[in-house]
Amino acid sequence: MAVRVRYAPSPTGLQHIGGLRTALFNYFFARSQGGSFILRIEDTDQTRYTPEALQDIYDTFAWVGIQEDEGPRTGGDRGPYIQSQRLDLYQRYARELVENGQAYPCFCTPERLEKVREQQVKDKASVQGYDRACRDLTPRQVQEKMNEGLKPVIRLKVPLDGETSFHDQLLGTVVRKNQDVNPDPIILKSDGYPTYHLANVVDDHLMGITHILRAQEWIPSGPLHVLLYHAFGWEPPQYIHLPMVMGQDGQKLSKRHGSTSVIEFRNAGYLPEAIVNYVSLLGWSYDGEREFFDRSDLERLFDPAKLQKSPAVFDYKKLQWFNGQYMRKLPQDDLYRGVMPYLQKEGLVDTRESQSTILKAALPLIQERINLLSDVVDTAGFLFKDDLDYDPALLIPKGLSSGETAQVLEKVLDIIPKLYSVSAEEGEQVFHSLVETLGKKMGQVMMPVRIAVTGTKGSPPLVASIQILPQQIVEKRIQLAIELVNKMGD
Ligand code: GLU
Repeated sequence: MAVRVRYAPSPTGLQHIGGLRTALFNYFFARSQGGSFILRIEDTDQTRYTPEALQDIYDTFAWVGIQEDEGPRTGGDRGPYIQSQRLDLYQRYARELVENGQAYPCFCTPERLEKVREQQVKDKASVQGYDRACRDLTPRQVQEKMNEGLKPVIRLKVPLDGETSFHDQLLGTVVRKNQDVNPDPIILKSDGYPTYHLANVVDDHLMGITHILRAQEWIPSGPLHVLLYHAFGWEPPQYIHLPMVMGQDGQKLSKRHGSTSVIEFRNAGYLPEAIVNYVSLLGWSYDGEREFFDRSDLERLFDPAKLQKSPAVFDYKKLQWFNGQYMRKLPQDDLYRGVMPYLQKEGLVDTRESQSTILKAALPLIQERINLLSDVVDTAGFLFKDDLDYDPALLIPKGLSSGETAQVLEKVLDIIPKLYSVSAEEGEQVFHSLVETLGKKMGQVMMPVRIAVTGTKGSPPLVASIQILPQQIVEKRIQLAIELVNKMGD
């Protein structure tokens, strides 16, 4: 049987990194099996629906380079793929369950339910939840209430005893006593909207879903869904609940740990290739060793049998390292296009040709040094700034007075023109000779120049940086540094 899997997000917020993992695993599983990947939008909670959230799903897919085979924008012969466009189906199936005696209409008002709840809390009742008051209404009682114009909800008749189990390919058999399953949950609301459970089960069945890969937080819904499948006389799909994603403190990954939405990582300058690779290792491993996989590798190699049971830990540092590795491999054109928006956002670069030439020349220098696209601002911002804003005290190296530092900088000014007619290596030699002539330490010469020209201790190699900048800018910066040092006195 051909594999058919789905990603079924509720468009209520921005795509979470955990949601992205669910989408990717489903997508990779479909691809590795020659199956179909379906996008279904679960928007039955209309109060929480936002169109931006739907757009964010599409933007995320485009960014990581995955494309659904069936879905709202692609179409397909099992649509519509947006649940709010399938209400008549859910209503029909809920009615069918009522007719078969598997579900029943309930007319309890919210006020009554609230009273029941309060009483249960007061009595510290062992079974909490709906008291099943309408479960045994006679057809006549139902008709009377309907005649009064009351609009019922539909509730599933959960068996009062026995147990329900389902098999999870990763976790084994999950068993729940029917007493502990929600007492007769609502499957269709009085406004004709289904709840998550009904819509999810009906759609998975009608869309021919063969495997459900979803987060472990959905395990508690499992027995209820299986009861629904049985009530309809359908075969449940295969379940594979994915390992939890934790922060390093062992708590479920949340905003407290750092960024969690895909767009935050994107804005921070992560590359989609690195995110796809890293996220795919959260709870999955190919052979326990190999760490680097591109999308096409995962489309071939992903195998749910290699998922791990234990929770995955989201390590922000590791992700940054991963990103750095992908940055090193990026073609220069892509790197240029990637870093440009960050420089523009800071107002450092506009459309001037001269700036673009400088940036292109600097790319090989910064490529080795930055882990995120946004790091370009700190690492290469000095190339584009009119004024470097640094603490003048940084200009004075260990072991030199301000007067001596000024003298060093004066001498450096003399060699600057020479640097523009030689290679970077030869330029280093020019500096070495100067250091020897001055009888100073290397750092005592290089550090003041580095601060003067770049404003930071962590710039790319100094000579190469100088050679990228126009000569008169370098000279102006060194002159300014001399003035600052002179002003400081000893
Ligand atoms: N709409 C649910 C969600 O937001 C789907 C859960 C499932 O995959 O069954 O995650």
